[in-house]
Amino acid sequence: MPAPPDWYATGLPHIWLPYAQMKTALPPLPVVRTHDTRIHLADGRELVDGIASWWTACHGYNHPHIRQAVQDQLAVLPHVMFGGLVHEQALRLARRLVALLPDDLERVFFADSGSVAVEVALKMATQFWLNKGQRRRRFVCFEGGYHGDTLATMAVSDLDVGMHDMFKGLLPEHLCVPLPRDADGEAVLAQVLERHAGDIAGIVVEPLVQGAGGMLFHETEVLRRLRAAADRFDLLLIFDEIFTGFGRTGAMFACASAGVRPDIVTLSKALTGGTLPLAATVARRKVFDAFWSDDPMHALMHGPTYMANALACAAANASLDLFEREPRVAQAGRLEELLMQGLAPCRDLPGVRNVRVRGAIGVVELETAPDLNALRRRFVEAGAFVRPFGRTVYLTPALTIGEEDLARLTGAVLQVLREPR
Ligand SMILES: *Cc1c(COP(=O)(O)O)cnc(C)c1O
Repeated sequence: MPAPPDWYATGLPHIWLPYAQMKTALPPLPVVRTHDTRIHLADGRELVDGIASWWTACHGYNHPHIRQAVQDQLAVLPHVMFGGLVHEQALRLARRLVALLPDDLERVFFADSGSVAVEVALKMATQFWLNKGQRRRRFVCFEGGYHGDTLATMAVSDLDVGMHDMFKGLLPEHLCVPLPRDADGEAVLAQVLERHAGDIAGIVVEPLVQGAGGMLFHETEVLRRLRAAADRFDLLLIFDEIFTGFGRTGAMFACASAGVRPDIVTLSKALTGGTLPLAATVARRKVFDAFWSDDPMHALMHGPTYMANALACAAANASLDLFEREPRVAQAGRLEELLMQGLAPCRDLPGVRNVRVRGAIGVVELETAPDLNALRRRFVEAGAFVRPFGRTVYLTPALTIGEEDLARLTGAVLQVLREPR
């Protein structure tokens, strides 16, 4: 095998990798090129991508339409600050996102990462009440939930399933409860809401699929219960669609398919089709109205330096073109069938707890945590990039992946899990 490139050997000692114990982590794979659903490594190997770069590259990598849009924008206006200035790409994108979202979710605040979009949502909800003269400190959030890695978003995530349990007791205490999956769960939730009434600003949930917490699914009925509880106790309902948005669950947005209307929605991940960082927090009219005032203190005091970056907005507009022109959402539905077929044989393997699929998300959950390094290495040997975490082995490929590449991915999962762990 050829030696790694010079930039790898000289730069790696200066890099701090994500979610990694640097001492024991596998050395990262040097990537020289991406194309469609393939990742090309420096040593000439080519991997079929099962993760779509943390669920962002929904049209596959280097899509010519997005590439062209970014190049055109680069020549004209790569970036201007959004304070006091606006540009066509951001305004077009805001209008298009609002048209795709239900009802009066109609004001878009742009940010540069998902965590920041959730921070903005939490800040909006807290100040919504402040502007009405109420101090409400807490959020209701859910077991299995994940909303980001910054301090405030960690505090509304389930610290047990995340990589953050050592932070327990150090963060503001919110109310982390089980999802109300049935009438009993609904009663438990109502008790918590009653006990803390007047101190709760809102409810934060990943609708239909809790992603980084273990690819856990729930039914639309759960979301209806949350909407009813939010209405009964006068709370804001925040849907974090950073993972579920843009077709991943088999609908453009989980909130639209569930028919449940949140007060605030966060978007990121596949927003730019996996090309540039961008996020959005979208608020309903009643949320925006609480900030609309002659009092300067009632303004939303937030403004990420790179918010509404023009290149990123151009990429997002091009990505939305593709959703309009091509049958992306139908492709996600087709992937549901193919993933189900491909992964079903894993049910019979020892140590597999269950196999579940929703939209373009295929999950094999194991009984016990495997040696992740060994598993990840075996996937690469099988020609696939798959990144299991905890007890979860999952596939979230590009929505455009062909049947052959998908079969290679599901075949790799079956092959790797068949070997002794
Ligand atoms: C990834 C993710 C985030 C955080 O987004 P970043 O861009 O990594 O900060 C928040 N919420 C959900 C549901 C996510 O999947």
